Amino acid sequence: MKRSFFSGESGVSPDIQTAAVCLRAGGLVAFPTETVYGLGADAANAEAARKIFTAKGRPANHPLIVHLARAEDAMDWAADIPEVAFRLADAFWPGPLTLVLKKQTWIPEIITGGQDTIALRVPAHPMALSLLQAFAALPRRAAGAGIAAPSANRFGRVSPTAAAHVREELGGMVEMVLEDTTQAGCHVGIESTILDLTRLGTAGAVILRPGGLAASELAEVLGDLPRPPGGMSAPRVPGALPSHYAPGTPLRALDRAALGAALDAAGQTNRRCGALLCRDISGAPGLHVLRVLSAAPEVYARALYAALRELDRMEFAEILVEMPPDTAEWAAVRDRLFRAAAK
Ligand code: AMP
Ligand code: MG
Repeated sequence: MKRSFFSGESGVSPDIQTAAVCLRAGGLVAFPTETVYGLGADAANAEAARKIFTAKGRPANHPLIVHLARAEDAMDWAADIPEVAFRLADAFWPGPLTLVLKKQTWIPEIITGGQDTIALRVPAHPMALSLLQAFAALPRRAAGAGIAAPSANRFGRVSPTAAAHVREELGGMVEMVLEDTTQAGCHVGIESTILDLTRLGTAGAVILRPGGLAASELAEVLGDLPRPPGGMSAPRVPGALPSHYAPGTPLRALDRAALGAALDAAGQTNRRCGALLCRDISGAPGLHVLRVLSAAPEVYARALYAALRELDRMEFAEILVEMPPDTAEWAAVRDRLFRAAAK
């Protein structure tokens, strides 16, 4: 008899139940979400959350996003929730939107980086949701059930979109890596959009990080476009950025013409490069390896991190990336590429 994924008496797969129990016991579990693979710990357990920072090599003052099984659970974690947050949650949860809200007082400082705000999201991946539901169903002492989960990679490196990426990078550091046994995959491919709703009266709704949900979609609920990310998140000068999402191989993001010229110049001095493109370029690649992702931003985003990992493994002198156009629909991808290119 074929065993369905959601088998077992409780309707929860044995792996997911084991993972939930492991999280409750203070362990680390990596699991698929529709954005990227997350490195999860019990968000109410400071000791467990601290293990995330050790495994990733993440600075302790970087707050973590708390993942919830249901939108209603936000009330356990956030205080003074503005009405617009409920409308956004209705429209976009489960999904790639993280809301920053005023926090409840009981939450461990390590989760919020000592700030008075909390970042919350209900993810859409079916395995992430079943894990969150199984976790929330277990007996607990804390006021809320949530899983803190940043991307399951070493700090600053390329985010994982497959279980194999996580095992490669953090294998020895986590108790469990949940294999994605559904067809869902990390179909968004880049991290969630982070929207700050804690300064509505003064700054309005502010995008802290562009991501899987477009600003234009948020505008349909907000009635207006959210404010774009300020300062470091909207890079005009990539070199000034903190490096993030970066492969080990040096990476340069260039427009199409400059990329063609750079490949020619590298070829003349026998420097082998990997190139990531939106559209194919004419002419033979020579020593270089070209990867054409897509001219459609959603398709490009889905394939981006796996392609960067693949090119990184090939040990080129340099990875050259075609920078997509400066339009709203490419904002999240451009943000990742600027940071991947930053030194
Ligand atoms: P990630 O690196 O995907 O785990 O996302 C973490 C990012 O979410 C942080 O770098 C912040 O930009 C944002 N964030 C998380 N928690 C908070 C919080 N409590 N207050 C404000 N921003 C937060
Ligand atoms: Mg990350």
